[in-house]
Amino acid sequence: MIKRFIGINDIKLILQELLIPKESYESVWDIDLETLKEKNITTLLLDLDNTLLSNKQRNLSIQHLNWLQKCKDNGFQIYLLSNNRSKKRVQRAAKQIECNGIYLAMKPFTFSTKQLAKTYSLNLQECTIIGDQIFKDIVLGNWLKIHNILVEPIDKTLSLFARIQYSFERFLSKKLTPQTK
Ligand SMILES: [Mg+2]
Repeated sequence: MIKRFIGINDIKLILQELLIPKESYESVWDIDLETLKEKNITTLLLDLDNTLLSNKQRNLSIQHLNWLQKCKDNGFQIYLLSNNRSKKRVQRAAKQIECNGIYLAMKPFTFSTKQLAKTYSLNLQECTIIGDQIFKDIVLGNWLKIHNILVEPIDKTLSLFARIQYSFERFLSKKLTPQTK
């Protein structure tokens, strides 16, 4: 007889821990900054593409810049954590926001986030990771066991691959979220 060491429920639990965001909102400006403060979050690690900037945009919108300023006025530190391989694109955004950050972050792998934390002496437990992709931003946050926030992508007209990934991510997350009745 074959003994199963890992059952389907174990897998479900592991996936739940990795794929379910701590909070989710339609867009970044719906994020409740007061609640974040109550949770002792001081630092926002922000994804760039489709979280602050659509793939078609070169520069951040006034609305996004205003929101980022509001975060700063509320005492939050801001860093960009982008998987984009274009140093120029990430640098341009960082300059607009007046913040630091990294490109080619290789999310959901944790090494560059840890490196960022080390470089700027950040306590990761006081950081939240904000992004539009479950498999990258949310998995990274949950892997590091830190707070994370899922937002909807700015540009809903995604490429075919991105659309499939988006649907699959949301489907899994919905399936895994415990029903509260
Ligand atoms: Mg993104």
